[in-house]
Order: sequence, then C-alpha cells, then structure tokens
Amino acid sequence: MIEVAIIGAGPAGISVGSCLSKAGISACIFSDERRKIGVHGTVQTIGRSAIEGLIAFGVSKQYLADLSHLPDRTVVDWQEDRDGGTDLFAALPRSLVVDQTRLERALIAIAVRNGANVQPSKAVLIGFDAVKRLWEIECQGRTLFARVVVDATGRAASVIRRNGAKLEMIDALTAWIVSSSTANLSSSLIVVKAVPDGWIFACSECNKSSLTFVGNEATCRLDPAYTSYPTSLVEACHEMGIDPGSREVTRSKSSAAVTCLDRAVVPAMLAVGDAAMALDPLCAEGIAKAIQSGERAAAAITEALQGRFGALIQYERSRRTELSEHLRSRARFYGESRYQSEPFWKSRSNLAWYPGINPKSFQFSL
Ligand SMILES: Cc1cc2nc3c(=O)[nH]c(=O)nc-3n(C[C@H](O)[C@H](O)[C@H](O)COP(=O)(O)OP(=O)(O)OC[C@H]3O[C@@H](n4cnc5c(N)ncnc54)[C@H](O)[C@@H]3O)c2cc1C
Repeated sequence: MIEVAIIGAGPAGISVGSCLSKAGISACIFSDERRKIGVHGTVQTIGRSAIEGLIAFGVSKQYLADLSHLPDRTVVDWQEDRDGGTDLFAALPRSLVVDQTRLERALIAIAVRNGANVQPSKAVLIGFDAVKRLWEIECQGRTLFARVVVDATGRAASVIRRNGAKLEMIDALTAWIVSSSTANLSSSLIVVKAVPDGWIFACSECNKSSLTFVGNEATCRLDPAYTSYPTSLVEACHEMGIDPGSREVTRSKSSAAVTCLDRAVVPAMLAVGDAAMALDPLCAEGIAKAIQSGERAAAAITEALQGRFGALIQYERSRRTELSEHLRSRARFYGESRYQSEPFWKSRSNLAWYPGINPKSFQFSL
C-alpha cells in the first residue's frame, strides 16, 4: 500500500512527491510515458526568486548554470499605461532560460534521492474502495492501493474533475509554438512583444530559435493541420527568418488558458500546480508556482494524515489568495496602451478577483 499516489510528473507532481518522501511518507509518482515530460519540451524563463527556490529544492547551481545562459539583451516592445507595468520585463534580463525537460529530469533525480518511487508509466484510477477507505489504482496490469491521490496532471486536471471538482475557465488563451534552426535570432536574446491580436515571446537556445505566440480563441482557431496562422505569428516568423510552412520547422499548439478549480481538495484527493490553477504564461512563474504548490500540498497532506484537517483549509485559502494576486498583477501587465480597442487587449484590462472560501461548503478530509 502506498500512502500518497501522485498522478503526473511535471514540476508540481515531482515537488509534492519529493517533499512527502523527505518527510517519511511513502509516495509514488506516476508519469504518462506516452507524453513527453513537461508541457512543451521547449525553453522557458525562470525568474530570480524561482532560481532561489530551485536551489533550495536541491538543484545544484552548477546544473542550473549548465542548463542556461543569461540573455545579453532583452528587447521589449510593450507600451504600458499603468504604474509598475514594466516590472515584469525589467526582471527578464535577470532570468534564466532553461530547457524544461532537462530541468524536470534534475528534479526527478532529487525526488528519487529523497526516497520517492517514480513509475514511468500511466496510472488509471479505478475508484474509491469505501470499505477499505483506499483508492484503487491500476498500473501496468497491477492493482495498487493508496490512501490519498494527488492530481498533478497539469491544465487538464483530468483526475480530480472525474471526482467532483469543476474547472473554471478564466481566460481561454492558446499558445502556438514554432521552432526552427534556420531563424536569424541571435543567441542570448529574448524578445517580448505586444501585437494587436496577442503577444509574442521569442528566444534562442542551442542553435534553435523558438517563437511562442499567445492569443485567444478568436485569433487561434483550432487548426490541427497548421494551414492557417494568426496574422501576427506569420509576421513574427517573417521577421525572424522562419518559413512557417517549411518541413524543417516544428510546430505545436497548446492551451495556455488561465484556469482554476472550484475546489482543489475533495475527499482523499488534492490538486497541485496547473491542475489546481494555471496562470497566464505572460507572468513566467508557472514552474516556480508549481513547485511551491507541491511543497504546500505536501505539508498539508502530512498534517491531515495526522488528523489535522485545518491544514487542508489553509491550503485551499492560500491557493485562492495567490490567484487573486495573480489576476491583479496580470491586469497591470496587460495595460498596453496601443491596442486598447483590440478585442484581445480589451478583454484583459479589467482588474479581476477570485472569491474567498466558505469552509462550510467543503469536505476537508483525507
Ligand atoms: C505557452 C506557455 C509558456 C509558458 N512559459 C513559462 C515560462 O516561461 N516560465 C514558467 O515558469 N512557466 C511557464 N509556463 C507554465 C509552466 O509550464 C507550467 O505552469 C508548469 O509546467 C506546471 O507544472 P505542473 O507540474 O503543474 O504541470 P505540467 O508541467 O503540465 O505536468 C503535468 C504532467 O502530468 C502528466 N500527465 C497528464 N495526465 C496524466 C495521466 N493521466 N497519468 C500520468 N501522467 C499524466 C503530463 O504528461 C505532464 O508530464 C508556460 C506555459 C505555457 C502554456
């Protein structure tokens, strides 16, 4: 019997499994072998505070240095009309550019050193055995039992939603990612640009340039064949010397939606990281927040397993506070004065909030 089964091996799942194992609680992390570890397998930026968090987690400075380069120059084409709107971009030159897949491998190595069992295979949750009060999980033809399940499946929150939680869509963003080795973007350069129908993030690493366009449903209609692109993405590709139709180019499209569960704690189950709430990629804080959420969830589970269920209320409260803070700062970063009449920019100029918690409407138990 395992104490805590964690479904999903992104930064949040690895973090919760690692912290629980360190605390002497048996934890098993399941990763979906059919999917590449990490959302995109591409480069991401990590801010200064996140770097400190990673070092505290155990990732060696040497390893982070090997993974990254500090950008020489950050080109920001963004015109904000509110005080403080530049803070985010001022922080970029002090950020690291990391390969998420390699970073997650480093995190998994730490989790294993802490005693976590990492299964490189998908686990299927069969259901809750009410007599034994255990979850029944099938993995590679074997049946396993766990007291608590953690949903760390990312934005889909696929496990906890089947068990009563509802996913609220706060902003339906989509990201197009185009990578090319022929692009003319010089290495050690980051470009962040506001465009009428979205925004663009471009950077270069290991002779490969990657361009991410983030837009909304109207500008990013689902097009699995990639035959039509948002106008600004085509323009940006042209500026970078990328032919989006070329066979050398790799393309992917993923959800970048801002989502939140109506509850991240249901009986004997918790959601962490993007499964609990997924932030706007503009903030470049996803990895740091996922790791912090894993640490907080591990602390709450440890307490709750000893009967102190108040820790679960605290976990839920801190999640809501964090989301409200995120939405407030997000509204500031989107204060782009040139495109205020464009539907994409109009829809994010309002200050947003998220309701507080009424503990009576929740069942906080494990
Ligand atoms: C376009 C874009 C750009 C971003 N840029 C940045 C950035 O620059 N900096 C930053 O810090 N963050 C960035 N983020 C956010 C960051 O990638 C995420 O917040 C972070 O990866 C969340 O971690 P997670 O562990 O919660 O989820 P994920 O990383 O999504 O991990 C979930 C894992 O669960 C696995 N899984 C799913 N279903 C199952 C199943 N049934 N069984 C087993 N495994 C399963 C998946 O394969 C995956 O490995 C960006 C996000 C987007 C969309």
